[in-house]
Amino acid sequence: MPRGHPGSLGRVTLRLYDTATRAVREFAPLVAGKVGLYLCGATVQAPPHIGHIRSGVSFDVLVRWLTVSGYQVTFCRNVTDIDDKILCAAEEEGSPWWAVAERNQRAFTRAYDVLGCLPPDVEPRATGHVPEMIDLMRKLIESGHAYPAGGDVYFDVSSYPSYGSLSGQRLEHMRAADDTEGTDAKRDPRDFALWKGQKPGEPFWETPWGPGRPGWHLECSAMATKYLGETFDIHGGGRDLVFPHHENELAESCAALAANTGPRDPAGGICGFARYWLHNGMVRLGGEKMSKSLGNSLLVDAIVTEVRPAELRYYLGQAHYRSDLDYSPGALTEAAAAYRRVEGFVTRAAEAADAEAAARATPTTEAQGGLPAAFAAALDDDLGVPQALAVVHDAVTEGNSALAAGDRAGAAKHAESVRAMMAVLGLDPLAAPWASVAGSGLHEVVDALVGVALGQRQAARARKDYAAADAIRDELRAAGVMIEDTPDGPRWELAR
Ligand SMILES: [Zn+2]
Repeated sequence: MPRGHPGSLGRVTLRLYDTATRAVREFAPLVAGKVGLYLCGATVQAPPHIGHIRSGVSFDVLVRWLTVSGYQVTFCRNVTDIDDKILCAAEEEGSPWWAVAERNQRAFTRAYDVLGCLPPDVEPRATGHVPEMIDLMRKLIESGHAYPAGGDVYFDVSSYPSYGSLSGQRLEHMRAADDTEGTDAKRDPRDFALWKGQKPGEPFWETPWGPGRPGWHLECSAMATKYLGETFDIHGGGRDLVFPHHENELAESCAALAANTGPRDPAGGICGFARYWLHNGMVRLGGEKMSKSLGNSLLVDAIVTEVRPAELRYYLGQAHYRSDLDYSPGALTEAAAAYRRVEGFVTRAAEAADAEAAARATPTTEAQGGLPAAFAAALDDDLGVPQALAVVHDAVTEGNSALAAGDRAGAAKHAESVRAMMAVLGLDPLAAPWASVAGSGLHEVVDALVGVALGQRQAARARKDYAAADAIRDELRAAGVMIEDTPDGPRWELAR
């Protein structure tokens, strides 16, 4: 993908919706030209369904847009590899907890990769950061924000006046934290667990307050701070994480920060830690949040056998990241058709541009050229992907008209622009990973073989033997090759 475009830093007026302030705010990084981004990644108790992977795609578009806009992005996406749900899954299937975590982490990595999500700069695992968590707990206990009780360690929500600010709740209206079984040891039912005391048969790590395992919220605070600093730019995740996960992350991180150094955020965020909070919408099924039992047929591994991965990515990425997506097979098919329309155009334009050069040259793997202003403006407006895609489809319409009129240069210009835009969305059809067949040599072999068959079909038609001509077309179709007759002669593509 292009690494920045000319004048980009001067142009950038990126605005993002910040959950913490409930407003669209102009994005100003903590350090000029750099962005630190933390995304809550997978809790690896099961392989991902499309509801799990949507945030990966949404934030991949953000990373790409920040990069194209000239920022140097440090992207940290964690793996929660110790959790009640993982222990339950391990118990159910009779495997060690770490084997369940490893296997599902691989499934997540496979899903991110197959959907073309750029790998994060660092992918920390919770179990590798227990010393950092102990350090954070020590700060919170020493400053009176946390207390050990009954083998657990709790955060004292009454010690932190801003508790509830992220999710817009007042402490007196909050329900009890249900993250531990017995709440007897808590001073207040709303206090949440930083650390859970050891239970028989469960994994544990030693701490000054006794053996146990980390709570989810503490993990992310420790990892975000370690890799991005006590204050960093953007924290992301699904909207279902705002409360309690992100509220608690924010409280414990800011309380520790205040204890350490006093409140400080030069750019005026609410207290430090993350300066912008971004949350993607949910994927729903029948109007409900997709759950494990509902979503088994919608595992990423399963869906990419039904539609091509690029088509699934288009489906997950096409809506605005903050809106909910109601899954239906029809909506997926529609998205796939929209992607194919773009792909069909750039493929035909590339063929028309210079068939000879295409045959002898190394395939182009990266789109070049500038981005239309309307496309950039759409993405700068809180990542307005639907508006950006409207610009793409307008360019495809104009490009198709140019092709129909025999204007190959005009078509090539539109194709270049379409590819540059699609690259920002991680979907340039002629770039890796979507166009990998083109570089394998196999495409050329199939093209030559189909050419032989089409020659025979042409000869059959010339002698008016239409039955033979149709039989050749049907045999190609049975072999998975679809023929389309165009004014420039027959074209082929693989059936899907
Ligand atoms: Zn998290």
